[in-house]
Amino acid sequence: MKFLLNFPNSNSLPGFLRTGWAQLDIAEYWIKINHLFKTIKHFKDMRSPFKGNRSNLSGLKMPESDVSQQFSDTDFSSVINPDYLKWRFFGFPVTEYKVIDDKQAISIARIGKRGVLTEVQVLFILPKSAEFRLKLLIKSYRKITDFDIISLPISKNHSLTRQLLPNLFLKVPNKASVTYKILEFGNANRFQQTGIVSHKLSYLLMRAFIRNSFLSLFGTFKAPKPGIHIINAHYVTPNFVDENDAKVFDKFLQHISKNAKLITIQEATRLVAEKQFDQKEALVAFTFDDGFAECFDVIAPILEKHKTNAAFFINANYVQSDEDYQKNYNERVNVFTKRPMNWQQIKSLHDRGHVIGSHTLDHMNLAAISEEEQFSQLDANKKILEEKLNYNCEYFAWTYGQMQHFPESALKIAQQFHPYIFSGTNYKHYFSANEAIINRRHIEPFWPKSHVNYFLSVNKKP
Ligand SMILES: [Zn+2]
Repeated sequence: MKFLLNFPNSNSLPGFLRTGWAQLDIAEYWIKINHLFKTIKHFKDMRSPFKGNRSNLSGLKMPESDVSQQFSDTDFSSVINPDYLKWRFFGFPVTEYKVIDDKQAISIARIGKRGVLTEVQVLFILPKSAEFRLKLLIKSYRKITDFDIISLPISKNHSLTRQLLPNLFLKVPNKASVTYKILEFGNANRFQQTGIVSHKLSYLLMRAFIRNSFLSLFGTFKAPKPGIHIINAHYVTPNFVDENDAKVFDKFLQHISKNAKLITIQEATRLVAEKQFDQKEALVAFTFDDGFAECFDVIAPILEKHKTNAAFFINANYVQSDEDYQKNYNERVNVFTKRPMNWQQIKSLHDRGHVIGSHTLDHMNLAAISEEEQFSQLDANKKILEEKLNYNCEYFAWTYGQMQHFPESALKIAQQFHPYIFSGTNYKHYFSANEAIINRRHIEPFWPKSHVNYFLSVNKKP
């Protein structure tokens, strides 16, 4: 999906809306008054524009806490860590900033004036635990600066909004607005058709906006770190495949080969399982989930051209399924332009040295079904694959890839069936769940090179 974001003021907003832009109605502006008498006396100053104080970059202590958040789903992912904060707030220091990095949160604010009133504008809060209290954060700001008002631009659905009223924050009218225009639909089309545009799309757009602006600049300067990187992808394009997509995938492999060595998935799995993390260079291996036709048509031949292979994680019921089944399957994986491989193609990949792994029978969310169903989803899929290919199915990747999609019971079942279990999360660490799970990094081949660089630049830990 490609889109543009813009930040028109209230005067130019109507023009934007008339010419096909849509509005993201997510920002609210909340303030809390610290010095009541002064603020009342100068209340008209509240209408003055915010003017940032002179930059204080030289004396500023950057956030250093090793706290990072990573969000990802099938469409977008984003990373927030100290490097990101440095880029986002301190790359172009035009105002005075204050940084809180204490037990409960990292927070960044800019300091400025509205008329004679001093305002602390809190731009960023990253709670370090669920115990986060807004009250304590305000206290921390009070300790380091004497302000008349503290303000918080925040999205309507943010979990913090519950703490605003009890802390005597007031909502004030906000002129800033965010508009967007979709250039190329991809999956966004789906959201519009199904009428869930506003909430889900705006959420995804904002996250994508953060990720894109951050990684495009930041990723440019990053090179892969020595270690073993296992990539988790699905397809060469979210759209219908055309002749250009083979080139895109070829370029993706060329780009990685420049700074890293491509190795087979069997080799990568062995190195991780044997904890041979002390590598001289970045080693990269590939996996593809869901078994779409382009795995056979495009992906495997180009991997072979680059003298490497991949693991393909298959849902047996999707293979050679009828149209009704495919429609439901596509809903589950949120892709609407894909067809499955057939058994001859999967057999061919297997014969050519690629790994065929299990991805459960029907691509259900394992956390949403009973233990009996979890068992049969894993058991039946392994049996069918082994019968069709006459081998021992050692590789398993659960659906949707995050820990919340993989209950303890499903892990126990998977361990009975498969020596190697792969996630799609927690990529900075080689393992999850006491070394029971090998983590993969979600990267799609058509993502910008800078994003790929960034993900490969992670210093992985056991
Ligand atoms: Zn999947």
